Amino acid sequence: MKKITEILIGSLSLDTPDARKAALIDKINTVIKPPREAKADNVNIRAMYVVNDLVNSHGGQFRREDLTKLCELIVDTPVLVGHNRAEAPLARTFHAELEEKGNALWLKSYFYWPKSGEQDDLLLKVDSGILKECSISFIYTTPECSICGEDIRKCPHELGSAYDTPHFIYGGISQVLETSLVYKGSVKGTYITDKLSMKEDAGLINRLEVNTDLTDGKTAIIPISLSDDSLVKLKSEMDEIKLCRAINNGKHFILIQKKAASHA
Ligand SMILES: [Zn+2]
Repeated sequence: MKKITEILIGSLSLDTPDARKAALIDKINTVIKPPREAKADNVNIRAMYVVNDLVNSHGGQFRREDLTKLCELIVDTPVLVGHNRAEAPLARTFHAELEEKGNALWLKSYFYWPKSGEQDDLLLKVDSGILKECSISFIYTTPECSICGEDIRKCPHELGSAYDTPHFIYGGISQVLETSLVYKGSVKGTYITDKLSMKEDAGLINRLEVNTDLTDGKTAIIPISLSDDSLVKLKSEMDEIKLCRAINNGKHFILIQKKAASHA
């Protein structure tokens, strides 16, 4: 198996932030299907940078491909404040995507809650920066040692908290329970934003790692999930790999072809 790293340079919003917002509201209606249709004048939308692929303060790390899985699992989960499950959720996650920022790949999740006519405490706390960080609760089966791959609770390696010391990989991720807005998160650099457009957050890149066997000249067809039909530019990190996008019956695919080696 040869590992190929593809980059999807997204841009779901080549047009205005308003169009992006309309597309997000559309997504609430199709994904969450609220009894009362979501409209620009009845919901607030914010996004949060929740987790990344760096080693966190617990010594844990997500595999890049598991971040893609988390993007799917996180949709339609509740948003709480301070992991307090005794209280009713305040908002709901309806969309997530990956974004390359600095030296990390981040999961950015989008959540919404109803606009209230009166003073909106949540909006006030989020936009004033009081509720600034976020945190995720999820279920996984095994903390896999980064050195030997065994359960780090049983193997001889001592847990550190950096790439060059032993850390653990979250293995067997099966469910996201909730995300929380918190005063202090355990992942460094998490934050909540009102920048919903990818254009506003310049430099968005979704990196997609594809494991596939590529024979010279043959084309591999990889299904991908795209949140909408807008333009996506494809770029491969490897010169000999050609990429293009195809749509069939409303489903999106990437066609990957390795140029036949030239024999001079
Ligand atoms: Zn180990």
